[in-house]
Formats: sequence, structure tokens, C-alpha cells
Amino acid sequence: MKKPNIVAIDDEAEFISMLKDYFELRGYNIDVAVRGAKGIELVKEKKPDVVLMDLKMPGIDGDEVLKLIKSLNPSPQIIFITAYDDGGKTKARLLKMGAYAYFDKPISSLKELEETINKAAGQ
Ligand SMILES: [Mg+2]
Repeated sequence: MKKPNIVAIDDEAEFISMLKDYFELRGYNIDVAVRGAKGIELVKEKKPDVVLMDLKMPGIDGDEVLKLIKSLNPSPQIIFITAYDDGGKTKARLLKMGAYAYFDKPISSLKELEETINKAAGQ
């Protein structure tokens, strides 16, 4: 079974390189960006199955990136990974806007994230 292709967008370089290492080691194709604008370019170019995304980033933030990605065809599934917490309000709003899932940062289980990515990609 082919593993889902991933694009990860997060302004924390260390976090993004940790994700890259984890998924590359397990045979996934993962491209990363530390800015929303670059992330959107990558999504257009690579047409990934799943996008992992931070919410708070300088420049275009996750909210805006979600809207832009959702307007693309094909439109990948989006999984937010963020430390931002306002008692679940933003989480509910993003899920309503079409995000597939929402993980708290720091990630407690990369295995669980991996399973969610595979579910999101329908495999
Ligand atoms: Mg951030």
C-alpha cells in the first residue's frame, strides 16, 4: 500500500525537522515549509494527500492557509498541530471549516498522528 504524501507547515524549524525525520524514516514522502506562503506553493506543486499545519505563524497564518488550501482542487486533508489553546473554541471553528483533525503541541504520540494521517488519506 502506498503511503500518503505529506506537506508540513510550521514556523518552528526544530519541530518541522523532527516531523520530517520521523516520517522519512518510516517511508513517507514529506516536504516541509516554515512559512504559510511557501507551504501553499508546496501544496500546489506536490499535491499531497495530507497537510500538517501550525496555527500561529508569521505572515499568512494557519487559518488563512486552511482557507486557501480548501479552495484548491484537489484539496488535501488538513491536520492542525498547535500549542494555541482558547478552551476549544478555535479547534471547533477550524474543524467546522473543514480541518480533518487537531492535535495539541507538544505532540504526545507521533504514532497516533501517523494513524490519523493514514485515516485522513483513506488508507
Ligand atoms: Mg507557530
